[in-house]
Amino acid sequence: MRTLVSIFVLVCALTLSAQNTYIHCGNLIDTESGKVLKEKTIIVSGNKIISVKNGYVTPVNSEDVSVDLKSKTVMPGLIDMHVHIEGETNPKSYLEAYTFNEADVAFASVNYAKVTLMSGFTTVRDLGGSGVNIALRNAINSGTIVGPRIFTAGKALATTGGHADPTNGSSYELMGDPGPREGVVNGVEDAKKAVRQRYKNGADLIKITATGGVLSVAKSGQNPQFTVEEIKAICETAKDYGFHVAAHAHGDEGMQRAILGGVKTIEHGTLMSAETMALMKAHNVYLVPTITAGKFVSDKAKIEGYYPEIIVPKALNIGPKIQSMFKRAYKAGVGIAFGTDAAVFYHGDNAKEFGFMVEAGMPAIEAIQSATITNAIILKMEDQIGQIKSNFIADIIAVNDNPLTSISTMEDVIFIMKNGVIYKN
Ligand SMILES: [Zn+2]
Repeated sequence: MRTLVSIFVLVCALTLSAQNTYIHCGNLIDTESGKVLKEKTIIVSGNKIISVKNGYVTPVNSEDVSVDLKSKTVMPGLIDMHVHIEGETNPKSYLEAYTFNEADVAFASVNYAKVTLMSGFTTVRDLGGSGVNIALRNAINSGTIVGPRIFTAGKALATTGGHADPTNGSSYELMGDPGPREGVVNGVEDAKKAVRQRYKNGADLIKITATGGVLSVAKSGQNPQFTVEEIKAICETAKDYGFHVAAHAHGDEGMQRAILGGVKTIEHGTLMSAETMALMKAHNVYLVPTITAGKFVSDKAKIEGYYPEIIVPKALNIGPKIQSMFKRAYKAGVGIAFGTDAAVFYHGDNAKEFGFMVEAGMPAIEAIQSATITNAIILKMEDQIGQIKSNFIADIIAVNDNPLTSISTMEDVIFIMKNGVIYKN
C-alpha cells in the first residue's frame, strides 16, 4: 500500500512539473472573431492549449520552453479539405497504374505527407486513393511517420466508366468489371454495399465522383455519372456510420443531383449555375474550390505529352474556369471550404490557393477562416481544431508577415506545431 501511495505522489509531482511551452506571439489571428490580436502568450501542455494570456508571460518552471514569435503572425494549423496524399502529378503517372505495387505507392506517400505538414497544413481531408491512405493515416497517428492529421475517404466511389473507375483507359483484357468492393457502383444496392465496404476498410468519410473529371482517361469532364437515387442511398448509408459525403463535380446537372442526394461538399464546382448556387445555400452545402489545381492542369496541358491526348482538351477547357466560378459563388454567399486538390499539383504548394482566393475577391481573413474554423465544422472537429483557444488541440503555425496585408506570406510557414509537438521552428 505504501509503495502505491509513493508511486501516486511521484506521478502527481511529474504531472505538475510537466514541461509546458510558452509561445510569445506578436500577432495572433483569432479565427473566431476575425481579428488580429497583439502581444499574446499561448501556453501549451501536452497536446493541448491550456491558456492564451495577454502580454508576454514568462515561464514559471525552469524546464518550461519559450518560443519567440514576437515579430511573426501566429494562427491555428491549416486544414486542406481536398488532397490525394498517395500520389503526385508527373508525366509518367498514367503508366504507374500498371507498374507500381502498393509498396511503391506507400513509400512515395510518406514524403507527400511530410511535405504537406511542413507547409503548415496540420489536418487534411484525403479524397481518394487506393487504400494506402488508410494505412498512412494510421502510421501518422501512431507516430511511425510524420504527417498531417488525415481524414480519408479510402477509395472514391464511381459508376462504371466514371471518374474514379480504377480501370478506365485499360485494354479490355485488363478492364475486368470492378464492383462495390473496388468502389464502382451501379444501382442502389451497390451504393449501400460500397459505403459499408469503406467503413469496413477503415475510411472516415465517403467521396463520390458525381460527374466526369479532367484527369481520368474518358471523354467527358462534366457529364452526370450517378442517379439521384444512387447518391441518396450513398448519403443515407453514410449517415449510419457518421460519415459525411464529398462530391467531385464539374458539370451543373451532376452537382444538382449531388446536392439533392444529400452531400456535404461540392469539390471543384466549375460549371456551377446561379440556380445551383442558390441550391447550395438552401441545403447548407459547401464549395471546395481547388483553384490551384485548375490553373496547374491548364498550364501543363500546353506541354505536349504531359497528359494523355484525351485529357488535354478537358484540362484546357475546365481548368481556367474555376477561379471565376469561385468569384461568383463567393459573391452569391455560398459557404466556402478551403481545399486545393494537392497531388494534381505538387504537395506543399497548398497555400498558393490563398492568393488565388484573395485575387478573386475574398478578404484574406475569410480565406484563413475557411481553412480553419469552416473546415473544422465540416470534419465535426470544431471544438478541437481551427482555433487557438484553451482546451483546443495545440495545432499552431506562424508566418513572417501579416497575411491580411500580404497573403503570399502563407506560402512560407516558419513555425509548425501539431498536436503539441514542434516540427519546425
Ligand atoms: Zn481530387
